[in-house]
Amino acid sequence: MGTPVNIIVGSHVWVEDPDIAWVDGEVTKIKGDEVEVQASNGKKIVAKLKSIYPKDEDAPAGGVDDMTKLSYLHEPGVLQNLATRYQLNEIYTYTGGILIAINPFQRLPHLYDTHMMEQYKGAPFGELSPHVFAIADMAYRAMINEGKSNSILVSGESGAGKTETTKMLMRYLAYLGGRKGTEGRTVEQQVLESNPVLEAFGNAKTVRNNNSSRFGKFVEIQFDKQGRISGAAIRTYLLERSRVCQVSDPERNYHCFYLLCAAPQEEVEKYKLGNPKTFHYLNQSNCYELVGVSDAHDYLATRRAMDIVGISQKEQDAIFRVVASILHIGNIEFTKGKEIDSSVLKNDQSKFHLKIAAELLMCDPVALEDALLKRVMVTPEEVIKRSLDPDGALVSRDGLAKTVYSRLFDWLVDKINVSIGQDPNSKCLIGVLDIYGFESFKSNSFEQFCINFTNEKLQQHFNQHVFKMEQEEYTREEIDWSYIEFVDNQDVLDLIEKKPGGIVALLDEACMFPKSTHETFSQKLYQTFKSHKRFIKPKLSRTDFTIAHYAGEVLYQSDQFLDKNKDYVVPEHQDLLSASKCSFVSGLFPPVPEETTKSSNKSSKFSSIGSRFKVQLQQLMDTLNSTEPHYIRCVKPNNLLKPAILRMSISCSNYVVGVLEAIRISCAGYPTRKTFYEFLHRFGLLAPEVLEGNNDEKAACQKILEKMGLAGAQSGKTKVFLRAGQMAELDARRALK
Ligand code: ATP
Ligand code: MG
Repeated sequence: MGTPVNIIVGSHVWVEDPDIAWVDGEVTKIKGDEVEVQASNGKKIVAKLKSIYPKDEDAPAGGVDDMTKLSYLHEPGVLQNLATRYQLNEIYTYTGGILIAINPFQRLPHLYDTHMMEQYKGAPFGELSPHVFAIADMAYRAMINEGKSNSILVSGESGAGKTETTKMLMRYLAYLGGRKGTEGRTVEQQVLESNPVLEAFGNAKTVRNNNSSRFGKFVEIQFDKQGRISGAAIRTYLLERSRVCQVSDPERNYHCFYLLCAAPQEEVEKYKLGNPKTFHYLNQSNCYELVGVSDAHDYLATRRAMDIVGISQKEQDAIFRVVASILHIGNIEFTKGKEIDSSVLKNDQSKFHLKIAAELLMCDPVALEDALLKRVMVTPEEVIKRSLDPDGALVSRDGLAKTVYSRLFDWLVDKINVSIGQDPNSKCLIGVLDIYGFESFKSNSFEQFCINFTNEKLQQHFNQHVFKMEQEEYTREEIDWSYIEFVDNQDVLDLIEKKPGGIVALLDEACMFPKSTHETFSQKLYQTFKSHKRFIKPKLSRTDFTIAHYAGEVLYQSDQFLDKNKDYVVPEHQDLLSASKCSFVSGLFPPVPEETTKSSNKSSKFSSIGSRFKVQLQQLMDTLNSTEPHYIRCVKPNNLLKPAILRMSISCSNYVVGVLEAIRISCAGYPTRKTFYEFLHRFGLLAPEVLEGNNDEKAACQKILEKMGLAGAQSGKTKVFLRAGQMAELDARRALK
């Protein structure tokens, strides 16, 4: 960010108060590189000169609707503007063409009603207040007018409002491209109703968000020549599998489990369900209900949504049978058997749940028991059944539950896609991306690695796009832009995905050698990336590693990387379920092609989640690169639900990162732009002589720039472009007048 220059005694500044973050005040003393500030909260704060920022005394009281209109583009200035607007319930602000959306944490129905949609329809961008509808409208118009596909990328941390924003965008696009007065199920209705279905099976309460999406989603809405919705495709990414059998307090498992337990009595009886507290996969956490949500109501709503997207009653019945079977599987427990290292079902309860699970899955109970307790070993001489010990059986049980659930989720996505249908003739689409934001927790594993990898990819796309837009503005204004440096994160991407030798490739290698462990994998990483700028080996660990991501350093624990990277269905589970008498269940487990089962070469059996994700991500990037992108950055106001945003300590959260990234890029060039008129109005008094008898605004501006000796500042066709810090310099001189 711009270094503050020309701070003098009497300057109005922002200073960081260690207790409450940014606070404004007046400089009372300057001594070397230290300043003393009389803060508006009554404190006297001593700070380093380079850590304070000039405050724009002329900033409008209600804030500005576009951050590029701010005179000073720095953290406190940006935060102050967002806070001012947020207090007025203005949750949307632009930064050029990028929309910043702050989660209001309250329903604002008038903001999204039909009347509002009507207003935004066809309105020139920037004419009305910033809004998601304006972004969707811009994308739609661009598609119609230029015949080019567009995409809207929604990002932000968990709970920031991405999914809600995505739904608003989809609603507005359905409004623009819908067929009025059509009876029955329309494509746009199906597109909209796919949301509650996917949320029931892919969302869960986490500590960050009561309705957290545990998968990434890209919805491609296809339009015909008349601009009407003619088809859609949904792609999903990396559903969190571990949640099915592991929930920590006070989180919940996937919504669908609780919905089903709250279903009408006859259904609960049919599936032998009951109180969610009786199921191990749910009672690891003490949270069963969500404030303001009725699971019973949502169960019926999900059923209705399933009707609309075209899932038949029979299929719905099978889906919920599978969901119920997972709960029963989770209640099967094991204890030591008579033989060494063997196990048996623990008690009658376990036998009961096993029997019910087998009934629901329509498979043989003995076969289910065997699949949980035994592994088939093929030796050249014979085929033997080896028993698993109780711990092994538990891993086997949870593995089965996770596999069944993730296959069920994939089935739902496929089904929705088939049922909505693709329009092969569509030339234009609008893609909407709702994907997990950057994550850095106390403990970070393979999931965070993939998520942060995604974010690096998207960040590169964002950098390239913003950079291009900046260049276009400079070209339009005919100013020289050789100053601008391109901010790039290619080095992190190389570290992760380079072939050969990137982390994903090294992980695959490790997974293919039977002798590798997470220790050998980590050692290999340390060796390979010894001198990589973005890779750090922590001093006190032999298996952790740190990646310096664009949004900050993240420490990863490698111990589960190998296991989590292997997409492996135990052959016994595969055989059991593909033999199910229920065609729905057997359909989830189509026979595995011969070569892979017969092959003696172990490595060919291995299918890598990391590599597959990398390919999926590349396909997504290819799609995005063929579209005109628009960005929405969602911001979570954090613990700041009531007080001003400025109370937020900058360092403790990366929520501003999204906002500041765009700004940082423009700071590399010319962060401040003022029209000639504005510039003369504000700084004319620095050189009153140039104004006399002079009607040429541009020439007058240029004279002022020359007189002030501002290196690098330029005047374009309609605006003056100032480099970082120059605005402050001019203001300081103005203050002396
Ligand atoms: P995750 O990454 O965990 O999926 P997310 O960014 O998708 O998080 P959302 O689920 O969209 O977050 O939003 C979290 C909650 O915030 C919503 O359930 C809703 O209560 C509230 N919220 C978000 N956006 C809005 C909005 N525009 N108006 C009203 N409430 C909102
Ligand atoms: Mg979400």
